[in-house]
Amino acid sequence: MLQLSQFPDNERLTDRLRDEIREDRMPHGKLFHGRPGDGKLAIALAYAHAILCTNRTEDGACGTCPACSKTSKLIHPDLHFSFPVITKKSSDQPVSEDYLAEWREAVLGNVHLSLNDWLMTINAENKQGNITARECRQIIQKLSLKPYESQHRILLMWLPEHLGAVGNSLLKLIEEPPDNTHIIMVTEQPERILATILSRVQITVIRPYTDDSVKQILLNQGIEPSAAQSAAYLSGGDVNAAMKLLNEAELTFNPMSHFRDWMRLCVQYKVPELMQWTDSTASLGRENIKAFLTYCLRLIRETMAVKLVENYEVRLETETAEFVRNFSRAVQISNIETLYFLVNKTIGEIERNANAKMVLLDQSLQLGRAFAESRRAKTN
Ligand SMILES: [Zn+2]
Repeated sequence: MLQLSQFPDNERLTDRLRDEIREDRMPHGKLFHGRPGDGKLAIALAYAHAILCTNRTEDGACGTCPACSKTSKLIHPDLHFSFPVITKKSSDQPVSEDYLAEWREAVLGNVHLSLNDWLMTINAENKQGNITARECRQIIQKLSLKPYESQHRILLMWLPEHLGAVGNSLLKLIEEPPDNTHIIMVTEQPERILATILSRVQITVIRPYTDDSVKQILLNQGIEPSAAQSAAYLSGGDVNAAMKLLNEAELTFNPMSHFRDWMRLCVQYKVPELMQWTDSTASLGRENIKAFLTYCLRLIRETMAVKLVENYEVRLETETAEFVRNFSRAVQISNIETLYFLVNKTIGEIERNANAKMVLLDQSLQLGRAFAESRRAKTN
């Protein structure tokens, strides 16, 4: 079961949510804004859990009452869901209800799922997901009835950015919902939501998971510790991305030491060893290479900050922070700029399906030459 106390990276928010519930002053409309693979849907569900529980504790939901048992299976009759769907064969506009069984299974299996994961689950192929006008009419009709079992009633809308202009039909409902009705929206792209909707809800930004939190979530799923650590580093706070990396390949390398080895070989300009490094990196698979290079960019940005900002506090866990501080002493600003530029360019090339081995080797050699040049400039 999802508890509001399970989100250490968003503690201030979840404390506030608990207070609101305890004091019975939940707003009509809430919008949680976050990034892919963060805890926004999980927090929204934990919040719904606490609202619907009939035997609340200090923590929120009790976890044992009949309401909690239904909410954990996502079958509480006063918890309504709305999410993007695709047209089935019939000509009627599709509604979320058509896909409710698939939705429950998908969310219970992975509360960090992306829109793309969801569309694959319902075999959307190339179809776009939508929240339709018919869905909006159904929502208004459903919420005009009395709650079934609970004193409260919730509409949880996942990704309202896919409502489009039909969202206008919900304005009155969002502004003045029936008594004890709460509308919770969860978005990744608020800029695509109608301003008229945004102005009627309380917007809360969800903080992304730290690497440690991602690691903990992976450990709880039975992932082996060193792989969990590597995937957490590479994911940049996106649990879903971390899971995909683990599915793509066995993560037997440690991204931080892999980066360190790479830099050492570039500085020493050892071509045969660089070729070996390139081979082993290329064998990680495209998604892992992209994730590794994105991780490198994070280290490079932090290194740059250490060089430029006095007493800068590195935003990485201890071992990596130590490495970044040492690395910043060993390189010059111009090298870091070259490095950032080259890594960024390589990510673009890998995305465009260039041959990973060739691109990585070419980049390493350019980098090695840049290091050598700056050494010569220094000694002259
Ligand atoms: Zn309960």
